[in-house]
Amino acid sequence: MLGCWRVTPCLSSEYTSGFCCRANNLQTHVNGVENKKKKKVVVVGSGWAGLGAAHHLCKQGFEVTVLEGGNDPESRKMLIPDDVGIHGFWYPYRNIFSLVDELDIKPFTNWTSSAHYSGEGLEVEFPIFQDLTQLPTPLGTLFYTQFVRLPLLDRLSSLPLMAAVVDFDNTDTAWRKYDSITARELFRQFGFSQRLYQDVFDPLLQVGLFAPAEQCSAAATLGILYYIVLAHQKDFDFVWCRGTVRDKIFKPWMDYMRANGCEFLESRRVTDFLFNEETGCISEVVCGREKYTADAVVLAVGISTLQDIIKNRHSLSFLQIPFPFIPDADWKSVL
Ligand SMILES: Cc1cc2nc3c(=O)[nH]c(=O)nc-3n(C[C@H](O)[C@H](O)[C@H](O)COP(=O)(O)OP(=O)(O)OC[C@H]3O[C@@H](n4cnc5c(N)ncnc54)[C@H](O)[C@@H]3O)c2cc1C
Repeated sequence: MLGCWRVTPCLSSEYTSGFCCRANNLQTHVNGVENKKKKKVVVVGSGWAGLGAAHHLCKQGFEVTVLEGGNDPESRKMLIPDDVGIHGFWYPYRNIFSLVDELDIKPFTNWTSSAHYSGEGLEVEFPIFQDLTQLPTPLGTLFYTQFVRLPLLDRLSSLPLMAAVVDFDNTDTAWRKYDSITARELFRQFGFSQRLYQDVFDPLLQVGLFAPAEQCSAAATLGILYYIVLAHQKDFDFVWCRGTVRDKIFKPWMDYMRANGCEFLESRRVTDFLFNEETGCISEVVCGREKYTADAVVLAVGISTLQDIIKNRHSLSFLQIPFPFIPDADWKSVL
């Protein structure tokens, strides 16, 4: 439920040195009669998170404006082209699969098998797991995956790591325990053979977490291993988008939302927020010289964008958000 909350910065007793957002239901009642005036929600960012929020807010009857800064001429040169973003859609992406059904579009390929090649040639072949008899996890993933060149001893050296994968329950304690070391150290501590690491896991991690193992957190690595190895056998299956996500999914999706009253404004890079002094709530979203009034704001941007806005803008300097110390904070859904 991203939609029906008013954002109020406040001090939290749980994180005494920190910041949290109190959420208030926006639907108001006066003398028992529902206030029919539509509440305005400004969504900042039109990636998956922003469009997803806008989609549900529109359906719930809010007046939604999406501000997208990516086409700002100044930042255009810094833009990552659309086609380097999300292209693979894994089996558990139920929301996205039901969305494309709702939009009545067919952007995806069929379920696809995959393979991994090292400099020496074909290393690993992954089947379409949902087509095979389901075995208890992680047996299905381990049994059906074909290692073409890697000797059995090297493969067996991965088994001790499974204990850490099971131990990693995604809690704050687990993150604190494993986040302080890198994936490289994790693999070394759990006795991975050099070959298994170099030819299989390090390249796979670069696909999953977009960085080599010595730059990845061990906690993030265990999280992804849990996700693709332990959770469910068929979670590793995926489809591809048959073109850019922007053309194949976002454009028809935005047209659908426009037809339901959602407004999309491009070249609107959010730079600041103004607060209502009485309520302490955000009342306006600032994009350079323009301001947009809002009853609620959804910030569907990355954490560094949030930090930059807060760091650079005087109206927000009082917040002093210690982001690294807020455990499990899913800011997109909180704000
Ligand atoms: C190379 C690459 C490959 C990937 N491949 C996959 C994959 O195969 N499968 C998968 O599931 N995921 C993949 N991902 C991850 C996936 O792309 C992201 O998880 C997803 O795009 C995140 O969506 P988002 O809406 O949270 O953020 P974003 O897509 O980053 O959207 C944020 C939006 O906010 C806008 N914005 C930023 N600052 C402001 C501001 N101040 N004012 C207004 N607007 C602003 C940005 O322009 C942007 O449009 C990949 C990522 C990369 C980089």
